[in-house]
Amino acid sequence: LEVSAARQTSTALAAKNRQLAEAHTELERRARELEALQGQLQEQAERDWLTGLHNRRYLARELERLLTEQRGGWFSLAVVDLDHFKSINDRFGHEVGDHVLVRVAALLCEVLRQPDIVVRSGGEEFLVLMPVTEVHAATACCERIRQRIRDESWERIAAGLAVTASVGVASTDDPDQLAALARSADQRLYEAKRSGRDRVVSGSRESSSCGECQEYGREAPVARLSIR
Ligand code: GH3
Ligand code: MG
Ligand code: MG
Repeated sequence: LEVSAARQTSTALAAKNRQLAEAHTELERRARELEALQGQLQEQAERDWLTGLHNRRYLARELERLLTEQRGGWFSLAVVDLDHFKSINDRFGHEVGDHVLVRVAALLCEVLRQPDIVVRSGGEEFLVLMPVTEVHAATACCERIRQRIRDESWERIAAGLAVTASVGVASTDDPDQLAALARSADQRLYEAKRSGRDRVVSGSRESSSCGECQEYGREAPVARLSIR
């Protein structure tokens, strides 16, 4: 009787064990599903639905990662803002405006190198973070962006449509100045707008007066960018 009872207990325990193993497998499967869902949610939260580009939140996260990985060296940040975009909407309609934003996003991706990060920061404004890039290289890159936007065949989207952009660029090799980088780039964007739009204004020192700014416009040949 004792042996028979022990066998029954053992069979019951084995069945329980199987159940536990199955429950464990199921839990693991659900955990993987949740992880994937979390990844999808994060991806959605960090994307701009119109252009498909990443957004500011993604940029902030990437900047943190780069700061720990790069440890020193140059960083440049550019603010690219479309000129008179409101009047593009007014003249051609919001759909054309949206189309322009999507096309500009594609052009930015075409021009930029792999380590650069481009995001739509809102409205008709884009941010480009260029790791390991000093001021002259960053300025040359932004000049290519400006020209690429200007030279695009916008007439294919709407007859009479023309698009230009102004760019403010700031560079630093001091990690403590990174917080001020966006402010400097913004100031230079303002300079670019004030001095006629369709141009790049850059500088490598934090300067509220923009005394160290270099300004490049339509009339400036690319050769002028290779300052030593
Ligand atoms: P500036 O050269 O000084 O930058 O002038 P601007 O007209 O580009 O600047 P402003 O800030 O006056 O206008 C920006 C316009 O961008 C106004 C807003 O309606 C438009 N805009 C913002 N987001 C979108 C969008 O997702 N789609 C479209 N079509 N328009 C947008
Ligand atoms: Mg604008
Ligand atoms: Mg703007």
